[in-house]
Amino acid sequence: MVFLGFAFFLFRIFENLYAANFDRPLFRHYYVFKRLSDSQLKILGTEFSFYNKLSEKHKGQFEHRVAQFISEKRFIGRDDLVVTEQMKILVAAIGCMLSFGRKNYTYALVDYILIYPEEFFSKMNNNYHKGEFNPREKALVFSWKDFEEGFRISNDNLNVGIHEFMHAMQLEARKSRDLDSVRFARQFQNILKHLTNAEIKNKMDKTAYFRAYAFTNQYEFMAVLAEYFFESPEEFKRIFPKIYNCTKKLLNFNFAGY
Ligand SMILES: [Zn+2]
Repeated sequence: MVFLGFAFFLFRIFENLYAANFDRPLFRHYYVFKRLSDSQLKILGTEFSFYNKLSEKHKGQFEHRVAQFISEKRFIGRDDLVVTEQMKILVAAIGCMLSFGRKNYTYALVDYILIYPEEFFSKMNNNYHKGEFNPREKALVFSWKDFEEGFRISNDNLNVGIHEFMHAMQLEARKSRDLDSVRFARQFQNILKHLTNAEIKNKMDKTAYFRAYAFTNQYEFMAVLAEYFFESPEEFKRIFPKIYNCTKKLLNFNFAGY
C-alpha cells in the first residue's frame, strides 16, 4: 500500500513536470466507461458535426465526457421551458468540445444550466441577455433560441454557448493551479503580449476582423476569440496566425482539423 502510494506520488510529479515542459497534459484520460443511451448518441451523431469528425478513440472519450457532464450538472428550464434530451446533449457537447483538449474538462465553477426560451432579463446589469455566466450562483444561463442559432449557423463567429463556457473556463483558470489552468494563464499572457504588438494592433484596426465587442475587456476578448476559433478556424489562422496558435495551445486543441 505504501509502495503504491509512493508510485502514484512519483507519477503525479512526472505528470506535472511533463505538463510544465511540453505545455500539454501527459494524459487527458485515465479511463473511459460512461456510455450514452442510443437515443442520446443519435442526437450527438446527427446534430453535432464536430463529433463525427473525431477518431473512434476520441469519439469514445467525447461520449464519456458528455455523459459525465449530464450526470453532474443540473438542468433547469425557466419561463415554462421544458428541458429536453436534445438540449442537454447539445449544451453538454458544446462545453465538452471547448474543453476537449483538457484533462480537467468538467467546469468546476458550474453546477446549474438554466435555460430560458428566449432573451431573458438579467439582474446582473438590468439588461436583456442571450446568455450569461453567473459565478455566484454557479450557473450558466442561456436563451435557447440564441443558443440554437449560435450553434446551427456554424460560420458567422457568433456562438453564445462557446462564449459563456469560455467565461467559466477563464475564471476557473484564474482561481486554480491545475495543469490546464496553468497552461491557460500562460497562453493568455502570450495572447495579451501579441495584442500590444504594433503590427498586430494595426491589422486588428484595419481588418476589423474581430467584432467590436471583443475589445470590451480581457474576458470578453477571450470569449469572442473562442467563438472565432471554432467557427472560422481557417480564416482566423490566415489573418492572425500567432494569436490562433496561442488559442490552440491554450485549449490544447489538436482535433478535427483545428
Ligand atoms: Zn461575455
